[in-house]
Amino acid sequence: MTDEKPFLDIRNAKKSYGKLEVLKDISLRVNRGQIVAIIGPSGSGKSTLLRAINDLDPLTAGEVWLEDVQINKKLPHRQYEKHINQVRQNIGMVFQHFNLFPHLSVRENVTLAPKMLKGLSDDEAEELAREQLEKVGMIDRIDYYPSRLSGGQKQRVAIARALAMKPKVMLFDEATSALDPELVEEVNLVMKKLAEEHMTMVIVTHEMGFAESVCDRVLFMDQGVVVEEGPPEKIFRNPDNERTQNFLRKHL
Ligand code: ADP
Ligand code: MG
Repeated sequence: MTDEKPFLDIRNAKKSYGKLEVLKDISLRVNRGQIVAIIGPSGSGKSTLLRAINDLDPLTAGEVWLEDVQINKKLPHRQYEKHINQVRQNIGMVFQHFNLFPHLSVRENVTLAPKMLKGLSDDEAEELAREQLEKVGMIDRIDYYPSRLSGGQKQRVAIARALAMKPKVMLFDEATSALDPELVEEVNLVMKKLAEEHMTMVIVTHEMGFAESVCDRVLFMDQGVVVEEGPPEKIFRNPDNERTQNFLRKHL
C-alpha cells in the first residue's frame, strides 16, 4: 500500500433494502491504474457495491468519491441530474448481459454517446469508434447489428462503447459469466489489454484464474462485508479467513 491519494474512494458504504442490510460499512480505495477484483458468493452485495459507484443504487449511508468529486452528493433534483450525468461519463460499465441497442449497428452503438453527450461531430465520433473497435478486435464488424454477433463479440463491442467515452474508471460486473465457455477468453483478453494500459478497473468476477492473473488486489465479500482483502497471491493461495477458504475451495 502506498500513501497515494485514492482515485476512487468508497467510504463506509451502507445499503439497505427495507430491513435487509446488503452493504454493511464497506470501504474501498482504488488508486489510479489499479485493478481490483471483487469475488464472493451470490447475494453478497457485489453488484450493489459496483452500482453504488455511479449512484445507480444510491447508498443508504457513506460516500463515493472519484478524484475530487463526491459522486453521491445530495443536490436539488435539477443540479443532481446535471452532476450525475457528468460523473457517469467518467465511469464505463459493462454488465453480464450485453446491453447493446439492438436496433443500432455496432458503429451507431459506439458513436451514440460521444455524439449525444460530448457533442462530437460524425467524423470525430467515427474516428473514436474505429479506434476503440480496433482495440477490441471488432473493427471488421462495424456495420453489423448486434443480432448477428456472438455473445463474446457483443461484449467486446460493449467494452468499446464504454471506452469511447474515455472513462477514468471501468467497472465490470461478471462480464463473462453469461458467455459460452469458448467465448470467455476473447473478452478476458480485451480486459487484460486494458490492464496493460493501466486502466483503473473494478472487476466483479467468478473467474479466479483471471482475477489472479490481472488484478493488483482482491476483495472477498460475503453477506455485505469485506471479509478479507489483499494481493491475489495471498487471497488465492493462503487466505486467513475460514469463509474465504471455504469459498475458494468451491471455486478454484
Ligand atoms: P451479488 O452481486 O453479490 O450476487 P447483489 O448485490 O446483487 O449481490 O445482491 C445483494 C443482496 O441484495 C441480495 O440479497 C439481493 O437479493 C438484494 N437486492 C439486490 N437488489 C435489490 C433490490 N432492488 N431490492 C431488494 N433487494 C435487493
Ligand atoms: Mg451480482
